[in-house]
Amino acid sequence: MPAPYAASDQNSRGRRYLESDPNYRGQFQRDRDRIIHSAAFRRLEYKTQVFINHEGDLFRTRLTHSLEVAQIGRAIARALDLNEDLTEAIALAHDLGHTPFGHAGQDALNACMKPFGGFEHNIQSLRVVNRLEKKYAQFDGLNLTFETREGILKHCSKLLAAQFEVGQRFLSGEQPSLEAQLCNLADEIAYNNHDVDDGLRAHLIELDSLRQLDLFGSAFDEVQQLYGNLEKQRLIHEVIRRMINRLVIDLIETSSQRIRTANPSSIEEVRTQPQPLIGFSHPVWTANIELKQFLRQNLYQHFHVRRMTSKAQTVVTGLFEAFFHDPLLLPPSIQYQINLQAETSWRARAIADYLAGMTDRYAFTEYARIFEPEYPA
Ligand code: MG
Repeated sequence: MPAPYAASDQNSRGRRYLESDPNYRGQFQRDRDRIIHSAAFRRLEYKTQVFINHEGDLFRTRLTHSLEVAQIGRAIARALDLNEDLTEAIALAHDLGHTPFGHAGQDALNACMKPFGGFEHNIQSLRVVNRLEKKYAQFDGLNLTFETREGILKHCSKLLAAQFEVGQRFLSGEQPSLEAQLCNLADEIAYNNHDVDDGLRAHLIELDSLRQLDLFGSAFDEVQQLYGNLEKQRLIHEVIRRMINRLVIDLIETSSQRIRTANPSSIEEVRTQPQPLIGFSHPVWTANIELKQFLRQNLYQHFHVRRMTSKAQTVVTGLFEAFFHDPLLLPPSIQYQINLQAETSWRARAIADYLAGMTDRYAFTEYARIFEPEYPA
C-alpha cells in the first residue's frame, strides 16, 4: 500500500488532454507502457552512454542504462512505500532526449543552438513526450501524466522554466514528487557503478587506483577477505554489487529517516518542503562525490574517450551546419516538417530535433552521405 505522501491515481494532477481511464491498469502503468512503445525509447539501444555503440557489445547503451535506473529505482520505491509504476515510468523516460554520442553530442548541439535558445537533453526528453512522438490520433506526444513529466524535467534554468507547466517549480522553489527525487539519485547510482565496470572492461581505468577510493576500496577489501584471489570478472562484479548495495541501503535508510522527521501527509506537502527528502547520509554522499571526481578525471577525460568525443563534435556540428545552410539536403520527410519560409530559429529547432533523434550509427552514416565523396548519397 503506497504511503499517503506517494503519488497515486487519486492525487495525480492528470494529463493535458482528457482521456478515459485505463482498464486493468493504473495511470502511471499507462505512462510506462506508452514510453516503452515509443520510437524514441527503441532508439536508446543505439545511443552512447560513455562508449560509442560500435566499440563493443558489452558496454552500456542508453537503453541498458535506463533499464538499470528503473531496476534500482523500483527497489527503492518499494522499500519506501512510494509509487513503483511512476518511478519506473520516469526512469525509462529520463534519457529519451539524449543526442547521439552522449554528453559530447549534447554539448556540440548546444553550441550550434546557442543563438536559438540552446539545447538541453532534459528539456528535449520533455519535448519528445510532449510533442515529437506523433502516433496518437488526438494529440501530439504521449499525453503523459503531470507527475511523469515533472520527473522527466529534473533540471531547468529559470529562464526556460516559465515555458513549461512542469517547470513552475524551478521558479517557486518547490520540490518534485519523492518518486522523481529518487529517480534522480537512482540515475547517479546506476551510471557511477556501470561506468566503473565499463571503464575496467575497456582497460581505461585500473583496479589499483580504484582501490584508493572509499566506496570501491572498502567493497574490494571485503571481497578479498571473503574469497581471496578471485578471477578478475567475478571480483569486479562482487565489488560493484556491494557498492550499489551500500548506496541503495544508505539512500533508503537516510530518506526514510528524513520522511519520518518531516512527516508529510500528502504529495503536496512533499512539494512544499524546503529541501528534497530523498538523499544519502553525509559520509556516503562524500564517498559518492569522490567516485564521481575519479571518473571525471580518469575515465571521461581519458584520451581514448576524448578522441571519440572530438569525432562526435565534428559529426554533430558538421551535420547541423550543412542542414542549416542548405535545408534541401535534409530527407524529404524532415523537409516536410520545416517551413522553409519560417524564421531561422524555427528551422534551427527542427534540425536540432532531427539531430537529437539520431542514433550514433545513423549520425555517422548521415555524415558520410553528406561529406564523403565516395559514399552514396
Ligand atoms: Mg541517465
